[in-house]
Amino acid sequence: MARLVMKFGGTSVADLDRIRNVARHVKREVEAGHDVAVVVSAMAGVTNQLVAWCREAAMLHDAREYDAVVATGEEVSAGLLAIVLEGMGVNARSWRGWQLPILTDGAHGAARIIEINGAELIRRFKEMKQVAVIAGFQGLHKESGRVTTLGRGGSDTSAVAVAAAIGAERCDIYTDVDGVYTTDPRVVETARRLDKIAYEEMLELASLGAKVMQVRSVELGMVHKVHVFVRSSFERPEDIDPHKAPSGTLICDESEIMEQQIVTGIAFSKDEAQISIRRVQDKPGVAAAIFGPLADANINVDMIVQNVSSDGATTDLTFTVPSSDYERARVTLEKASGKIGYQRLDGATDVAKVSVIGIGMRSHAGVAAQAFKALSEQKINILAITTSEIKFSVLIDAAQSDLAVRTLHSLYGLDKA
Ligand code: ASP
Ligand code: MG
Repeated sequence: MARLVMKFGGTSVADLDRIRNVARHVKREVEAGHDVAVVVSAMAGVTNQLVAWCREAAMLHDAREYDAVVATGEEVSAGLLAIVLEGMGVNARSWRGWQLPILTDGAHGAARIIEINGAELIRRFKEMKQVAVIAGFQGLHKESGRVTTLGRGGSDTSAVAVAAAIGAERCDIYTDVDGVYTTDPRVVETARRLDKIAYEEMLELASLGAKVMQVRSVELGMVHKVHVFVRSSFERPEDIDPHKAPSGTLICDESEIMEQQIVTGIAFSKDEAQISIRRVQDKPGVAAAIFGPLADANINVDMIVQNVSSDGATTDLTFTVPSSDYERARVTLEKASGKIGYQRLDGATDVAKVSVIGIGMRSHAGVAAQAFKALSEQKINILAITTSEIKFSVLIDAAQSDLAVRTLHSLYGLDKA
């Protein structure tokens, strides 16, 4: 007997048929003797609609009212699932964020969870084997007592937080993919599903845009050492033996991964743009003059490369921003040109960032060097490089992105047999 959290995303609860399917998954675990807390997202598309209505009502709206509106999507799916479970003879009760409560700070629209009291859920597991169906994404501001939401994709974070609060053995994330892959299987046919991935690696992947889980949920799992398990919600509940190890990817502490590969996965993003500032003054304060205004405009700068000046007076500086911010970044820099002092701005949006991730890099030298050689053999030119302890990224021509990903995937032995 175990205590489980089961989280279902929007596509898994998109209509009543799918909610019935979810209920059968829940029933399976209950019948296997487990205590279950379910966390649900809003039905697919609902949150987008609610967000759109807020914007339509007033472009500049009070974030507290935005939360009051967008938090409602999850209340519908939680209530419906509880009704369907009861109809199947499973004792279940739905919970909203304020009822537990899930206490958060006051950052409306992107609130952080402060604490969850799991005592009442545990009492109901023990005394009446009652399944808790919890509306994901929402919380309660600890001070004002108003409803908050945790940012888009936040029900992943709700699920991991509930798992920590009730001391769950596992937090199952049921989603439309059956696990975490070494890279996108649509680009590399030989991509493999990982049995296990370390929190830190998953954090890098999520930050690089792998849409499997919200970044914050991975952070939270890492802090509380929650076993997060990514698995498919489309497997038929009847086909799963609850007594056998399920198939999917476990996100866990690195010490739990016996055969650690040097490289675990390759991520890539084509939503990058490159900006080069030519012949900028090489003197103290210039970086601040460039990146200060960009930060004020809320533009996220990623890779930064600055050359050492050859004449001691001017140098070139290259960096990347999300391609959706490219125009805004250019305008911001042109406005600040008097203060910065440069000769010319060059830019390109047809670039891609390819990243190689693996905890093994901490203890192995030369991992990146191998990549540079393999890429050069494919005649792929590298425009910029950044590295961190467990990751390095290269900026390349977007047209060569798929080739680069395939090349690196093979190079590090990630192809499936
Ligand atoms: N329904 C919310 C969203 O679409 C939260 C979630 O699904 O995780 O962002
Ligand atoms: Mg999601």
